[in-house]
Amino acid sequence: MEKIRMTTPLVEMDGDEMTRILWTMIKEELLLPYIDLKTDYYDLGLEHRNETNDQVTIDSANAAIKYGVAVKCATITPNAARMTEYNLKEMWKSPNGTIRSILDGTVFRAPIIVKGIEPCVKNWEKPITLARHAYGDIYKNTEIKVPGPGKAELVFTAQDGTEIRQTIHNFTGAGILQGVHNTEASIASFARACFNYAADSRQDLWFATKDTISKTYDHTFKDIFQDIYEKEYQTKFTELGIEYFYTLIDDAVARVMKDKGGFIWACKNYDGDVMSDMVSSAFGSLGLMTSVLVSPTGVCEYEAAHGTVQRHYYKHLKGETTSTNSVATIFAWTGALRKRGELDQIPELMDFADWLEQAAIATIESGRMTGDLSRIANMKKIHVLTSEEFIQAVKEELERIKQ
Ligand code: NAP
Ligand code: MG
Repeated sequence: MEKIRMTTPLVEMDGDEMTRILWTMIKEELLLPYIDLKTDYYDLGLEHRNETNDQVTIDSANAAIKYGVAVKCATITPNAARMTEYNLKEMWKSPNGTIRSILDGTVFRAPIIVKGIEPCVKNWEKPITLARHAYGDIYKNTEIKVPGPGKAELVFTAQDGTEIRQTIHNFTGAGILQGVHNTEASIASFARACFNYAADSRQDLWFATKDTISKTYDHTFKDIFQDIYEKEYQTKFTELGIEYFYTLIDDAVARVMKDKGGFIWACKNYDGDVMSDMVSSAFGSLGLMTSVLVSPTGVCEYEAAHGTVQRHYYKHLKGETTSTNSVATIFAWTGALRKRGELDQIPELMDFADWLEQAAIATIESGRMTGDLSRIANMKKIHVLTSEEFIQAVKEELERIKQ
């Protein structure tokens, strides 16, 4: 059979540890036999980041901007232990953070739905995709531990020296203080990324803040979203038959629990941090959670939401068998290939992405799965496969579906 041709390369960002092992297996078994794979390859493995003083991470993000679509393997974010393990010159920053700031992107996390692995929330039938604003608020705060009585003020000094001043509190005893900020530019980028993603994936968009209490700070988020929606997206949303829905954060939380899913939930930074962990653990497994970084201009970088699965890697190095779930990494590839197919109008590439996803899901639904899923699956017959056997099983399903 002839291989599927590609016209534009995908930006390929290789990574670390067990996911790096899976990465090669996925390419060799599930992609290269079927696709004339064109990639612009960047090795974001920690050793190579260290050799290049992390320049490779910056280069890979710029390549993503150039080509529009990237696929990324999980990477190590160095800490003190990694400094010695890899003999690092510096404690390099998180590659995801670096790429996100160059792309000015928003991360969308979506679960893969499989029959037999049911979410804890019984009425969730469809995925809930969580979008977290990744700038500002308490993540860039300034804090003071107030030692005793005194007056706390909020002061803004403009470039021409004029001041805006407000009393926060007259302390009669010890206490605490916190200053937070956000920028209109960042909120607008976040809003556009959310509206674009909703339109692309034809799903409703929900957004919530606490604007009744925070009448300036949170209300500005609400106003910017509303304004951009009306000026730039309302017509498109109406055509697509999707909705933008704003409500209070506590109302949103209550509704999410009762809804059947199938929408995007945009959250402020802290809400997104907390709610993404709740939503992903309620859907079942980190191994079934995908993640895509979308820039306000539509550049997409696909990856698995989990890390490098270090514990499994050390077993692998000792020659022991592993049973590591490759599904989220497979879906990172299919997401990127489908997007590439869409942009370059290559329907075969889009079909292939669909088939490979169906094959992965069918494999699990037939009872063949990795250890992490076997512990949460609700099925009569379960066969726990090794990392390699699972990818082979997906390949068999793919061959069947392709016929
Ligand atoms: P992790 O790699 O996600 O693994 C945590 C645990 O979750 C594993 O030990 C494993 O549990 C389970 N798990 C996660 N993914 C799995 C999969 N695909 N199949 C089976 N089990 C899976 O998180 P971590 O241990 O906190 O971090 C390891 C490294 O990854 C760190 O260096 C961190 O910096 C990096 N990281 C990278 C990213 C990214 O690049 N996006 C994200 C998060 C973390 P058991 O051991 O119980 O089997
Ligand atoms: Mg969190």
